[in-house]
Amino acid sequence: MAMQHINVPPDNHVKVLGGQGWVGLIDMLGSEVTILNAARVSFGKMKTEMEDKDVSLLNYLIENKHTSPLEHVVFTFSVHCPLFVRGQWHRHRTWSYNEISRRYTEIDLEFYVPPKMRQQAEINRQASVEWENADDKPLRDKIAQHNQSSLGLYNELLDAGVCREQARGVLPQNMMVTFWGTVDLNNLLHFLELRDSDHAQWEIREYAQAIKQLIKPYIPNVAKYFESKGQTW
Ligand SMILES: Cc1cc2nc3c(=O)[nH]c(=O)nc-3n(C[C@H](O)[C@H](O)[C@H](O)COP(=O)(O)OP(=O)(O)OC[C@H]3O[C@@H](n4cnc5c(N)ncnc54)[C@H](O)[C@@H]3O)c2cc1C
Repeated sequence: MAMQHINVPPDNHVKVLGGQGWVGLIDMLGSEVTILNAARVSFGKMKTEMEDKDVSLLNYLIENKHTSPLEHVVFTFSVHCPLFVRGQWHRHRTWSYNEISRRYTEIDLEFYVPPKMRQQAEINRQASVEWENADDKPLRDKIAQHNQSSLGLYNELLDAGVCREQARGVLPQNMMVTFWGTVDLNNLLHFLELRDSDHAQWEIREYAQAIKQLIKPYIPNVAKYFESKGQTW
């Protein structure tokens, strides 16, 4: 049987970070009809197709935070992102994760170089601001050099016989990692609210926006609800 490497994006994916990262939809369970049927379980009724009048029930559920029916729709994504984005992502405990291990493999090491540098925000110490007319290429080149010299040291340690689990400690936060994440729609909407926000770091925001693009065809009326509240989907 043919085996595909996990670092290859699935067919249904969206590229982010200027093409350096991606998020793909691996699998999903349920649909908007599933949400409505779950909401109607208490009346003992089920439908196979969505009717126009069902949209108002869907909107009612979201509006009134009657969210448990949304938990019956589940998505699995494959995510290729820098280590620091993975750190932010994995704070979302309601997802289930599995990740490629650097204790098993040292092949395919890649490193992120920001397509554009941003400046430190002055008021919010956690945030950044656009850097107008920045001559940032020399800085980005230095980051690329630093990534490569970390890789050089990593390889030197492996060549000297050091184990992978210790050698990986010298790899930078810009190292790209690949993981699978599975989440139900209710917790995914929570993630999207937090991570497609002005408060979130640009890099993880790119992934949140890409996820919206990937799931919109499967949950068009949910997306419309949020668009009607001024969100971009
Ligand atoms: C802009 C931004 C800045 C951030 N800055 C920092 C920071 O500086 N330092 C830092 O440490 N973190 C930071 N975080 C991470 C943040 O504190 C959350 O850990 C992260 O956003 C995950 O949110 P969550 O817990 O709501 O999500 P999930 O873990 O997916 O949980 C979803 C919901 O489930 C419920 N839940 C899950 N687990 C529990 C539990 N054990 N007990 C009770 N209820 C639970 C809660 O209602 C929760 O909102 C930041 C997040 C954002 C978006």
